[in-house]
Amino acid sequence: MIKIKSTAELERMRASCQMAATVRDRVAKAIKPGVTTQELDEYARDLIADLGGRSAFLGYRGFPGHICVSVNDEVVHGIPGKRVVQLGDILSVDFGVVYDGFVGDTATTVMVGVTDSEVIRLIAVTEEALQAAIDQAVVGKRLSDISHAVEKVAVAAGLGVVRDFVGHGIGRKMHEDPQIPNFGAPGRGPKLRAGMTFALEPMLNLGSAEVEVMADGWTVLTKDRKPSAHFEHTVAVAEGQAEILTLAKNE
Ligand code: MG
Repeated sequence: MIKIKSTAELERMRASCQMAATVRDRVAKAIKPGVTTQELDEYARDLIADLGGRSAFLGYRGFPGHICVSVNDEVVHGIPGKRVVQLGDILSVDFGVVYDGFVGDTATTVMVGVTDSEVIRLIAVTEEALQAAIDQAVVGKRLSDISHAVEKVAVAAGLGVVRDFVGHGIGRKMHEDPQIPNFGAPGRGPKLRAGMTFALEPMLNLGSAEVEVMADGWTVLTKDRKPSAHFEHTVAVAEGQAEILTLAKNE
């Protein structure tokens, strides 16, 4: 059952999503060679506290970080730790906040002095795939139109589409119905209605789509150890054009 948010609920989601966007962008700006992923997590922790929110990730099924930081061949769910950021790395920062009873969820992938043109292309195409998904989140489309849009962009670019992890409905809980895969035929599933809110999040790999979970039980890696990128926005379905709730408005 996909929940339809009321105008008042959407207003509250705008606030939580703007908070998520602020933390995402400030942490992204703090990424530089020499910083550890643990330091990024501590920075996020302090920002969240200052803003009056709560990390939706910390303690989620026992996750130990405030944010997920996934480096290079790590796809998602990387645990912050002692790893030192190096020139040439790419870091996906994924962050969910709870504020005033609603969750905002967003991710970006940051390049640290990357010169490898294939990696630069991976990042650009993954961002493009997210935009293609958002373009389908409008009244009158069906759910799988979103999934298909991501796959189409990725396949045209020769990238692997991660199938083991998916986008999702979001609202009072981080993961609500429906699941939103990043692949599939168009024109299937429920019709989209105004006030549905989704976290759309393509995860694309430079190599194959195959992934595995590390021994820490969280970190997802590409099987071929080639790099992976991840972008995510929380959006509200609307007439004509989706509202990107986690698009930064303040800075
Ligand atoms: Mg998500």
